[in-house]
Amino acid sequence: MMKDPKKGFFMMMEGGRIDQACHNNDPGAYIQEMLDFDQAIKIAYDFYLKHKKETLIVITADHETGGLGLTAGDYKTNLKVLQYQKMSKGAFSAHLEKMGREIGDILTWDEVQQELKENFGFWDTVKLTDKQTDRLRSVYVETFGMGPGELKEGEYFEVDKLTDEAARIMTEAAQISWAAGCHSGSYVPVFAIGAGAELFTGQMDNTEIPMKIKKLAGY
Ligand SMILES: [Zn+2]
Repeated sequence: MMKDPKKGFFMMMEGGRIDQACHNNDPGAYIQEMLDFDQAIKIAYDFYLKHKKETLIVITADHETGGLGLTAGDYKTNLKVLQYQKMSKGAFSAHLEKMGREIGDILTWDEVQQELKENFGFWDTVKLTDKQTDRLRSVYVETFGMGPGELKEGEYFEVDKLTDEAARIMTEAAQISWAAGCHSGSYVPVFAIGAGAELFTGQMDNTEIPMKIKKLAGY
């Protein structure tokens, strides 16, 4: 924000959880966070339509995360399955943990399967191969079967191994792939519209972006 609001304002908004979802290789959370970010852009765009001459919108990212691959190698995607993932990995893992605590016992495979049906759409809407079902069941036996779900921890997440496997299977069902759980070296797009948008073309170093905004705003 500027010191004198009569001279206009600068606002920075971040869809910070997009990065988190990608660190976590969480396909459903990733798509929902992107859709949320799209809604935020829409609000900014509506503002721009009312104040076209003095508004500039710049949309970019400071890096790509996860190395999201479209397709898993066969040039087909099945992105529509992502709508059936109702919770992020973190939320689903916490949900299973809470259920176990409330029941006061180890969750049965039937109970876990029911939760996977409701929150990932598995079996009903998202068809799994027998192999994928076996993988979930064996992770269940290895971890939940012996007590509370064993956790896989990272800087950005703490999820049980069953949830981790469920998200891996959702990734396979959507026919996408992740290259890593960290920031990638991919170039990121820069979209700009409005006053001075023409300055945001070509290949740029990210440090040039604030300098261009500064110049255009007359700071
Ligand atoms: Zn990050």
